[in-house]
Amino acid sequence: MNVLVTGGAGYIGSHAVKQLLDAGHRVVVVDNLCRGHRRAVDRRAAFRQIDLADTRGLTDALTAHAIEGVMHFAALAYVGESVGNPLAYYDNNTAGAISLLKALQTARVKRLVFSSTAATYGEPERTPLVESMPQQPVNPYGWSKWCVERVLRDYSAADREFSFAALRYFNVAGAAADGSLGEDHDPETHLIPVLLLAALGQRERVTVFGSDYPTPDGTCIRDYVHVEDLCAAHVLVMEALRPGDARFYNLAIGRGYSVKEVIASAERVTGLKLPIQYGARRPGDPAILFADSEKISRQLGWSARYRDLDAIVQTAWNWFRSHPQGYRG
Ligand code: UDP
Repeated sequence: MNVLVTGGAGYIGSHAVKQLLDAGHRVVVVDNLCRGHRRAVDRRAAFRQIDLADTRGLTDALTAHAIEGVMHFAALAYVGESVGNPLAYYDNNTAGAISLLKALQTARVKRLVFSSTAATYGEPERTPLVESMPQQPVNPYGWSKWCVERVLRDYSAADREFSFAALRYFNVAGAAADGSLGEDHDPETHLIPVLLLAALGQRERVTVFGSDYPTPDGTCIRDYVHVEDLCAAHVLVMEALRPGDARFYNLAIGRGYSVKEVIASAERVTGLKLPIQYGARRPGDPAILFADSEKISRQLGWSARYRDLDAIVQTAWNWFRSHPQGYRG
């Protein structure tokens, strides 16, 4: 299949590009490089530096490469930033997706796999989360993605040949097993990379955001899914989509780990005692988020190969140790 990947220079998108190519697909990456890295794009893929707002540029790329399916990763993805600058989030994530959909409509592209998020659920009433539970985001980032899910439902109802899947990610972690790709964010705020950067001496300390949550050890519980498992689901879904499909899937391993458990894992993997301090809760953090991915495993046979946290952290550590300066190194 000829596949266009938006955000293919980013953390998750770059792993998806590699898997698509390895599976025999032809890939065009579209990225404005505002957060992504040109060096993260596999050499086998074509690359176009285009902003999502540029509907005409997107249409040209879709037509020129005879694109049959799109994976849409390009987005801003910091919850805190979205609270301070909601317009940037609605502009990039929501308006950007609409611009992309207009290009798909003009170019008659009928398949889309959309990168959605667990943040569309907000503070869940109970866990594990399943896809049919209410969605009530608690920050602009979650709403900006929720809006796209809404638009996709309506657009697909209007065009019965169109098909899409919205994949709701939990905590994506790890790096390519072969060490070729990994996480390089600026600023880096995610727990596992922050711990590993501290292990490399690039952070003086790591603050645990809250130890008074109603969880067994008082710290937040999250479901960490390996980036390669997540991308494998994208390829599977892209290949499975049929006209008229409107699919929604959680992508998670179905098991939560507390912040303290993640710290212990990072200490086991690195063999180092990490500089930890305890601080206040971070606004907008639900106490417990983990999900059931039974729906995608039942319907498409997907399951996460990485189920052990140490194995996930080990791949991230391989990346950080071999690329201490990220893609700049
Ligand atoms: N966290 C933390 N210290 C950090 C970064 C994260 O205690 O420096 C906690 C955060 O409060 C959450 C969990 O680790 O409970 C995972 O946070 P992350 O930012 O990695 O992902 P999120 O769950 O926000 O998508």
